Amino acid sequence: MKRFVRGPEPAILSQKGPAWAADWERKRAANPSKPFRWPAVNKIPLNQHLLPQLKEQTQDHCSFCDQYPVSPPSKDTIEHFRPKSRFPAEAYAWANLYYCCDYCQRKGERYDEGLLRPDANDYEFQRYFRWDYTLGRIEVNERATPADQERARVTIELYGLNEGEHPSLRRRESRRRHREPDEPLDDFAYRHYLEP
Ligand SMILES: [Zn+2]
Repeated sequence: MKRFVRGPEPAILSQKGPAWAADWERKRAANPSKPFRWPAVNKIPLNQHLLPQLKEQTQDHCSFCDQYPVSPPSKDTIEHFRPKSRFPAEAYAWANLYYCCDYCQRKGERYDEGLLRPDANDYEFQRYFRWDYTLGRIEVNERATPADQERARVTIELYGLNEGEHPSLRRRESRRRHREPDEPLDDFAYRHYLEP
């Protein structure tokens, strides 16, 4: 999970976000299984307006696993860090929205207060994590405080950072980096794994 700096809130969210959130809260209270839909702005769904700025912040990489390109094979999606079903008031809060791949979206409605945000002021990879380069796995930094270790553990678990093909894809990307050392780092997935 690579740190990034969040840009200013888009004007559309400052202007209309609170009313959209209130509407979503009302609908959700009336019907708890009501599916979430982005409102249309100038006939285009809001997420399409927000994606360019979200993607720019992470150089088009998934905010959590750093997969690149996210789309294709995945879809371009926006993750509600605090799930929109459980925290409806934050469904349109800029700080709650992250560019995300399909795989990390499997976190779904799960949430834990210890989850790490890649754009938090005090977030640093080394504070919480370390790499196992042999296996291509992200691990908890055993030198961190017990509280920080727990935050790292829950982040790895909920975003599935060692599940599926992540470890083998990291190793593959590392081999490609050796073959193509002159390619820009942003053209690779798992940038933090490639630049120890
Ligand atoms: Zn991801």
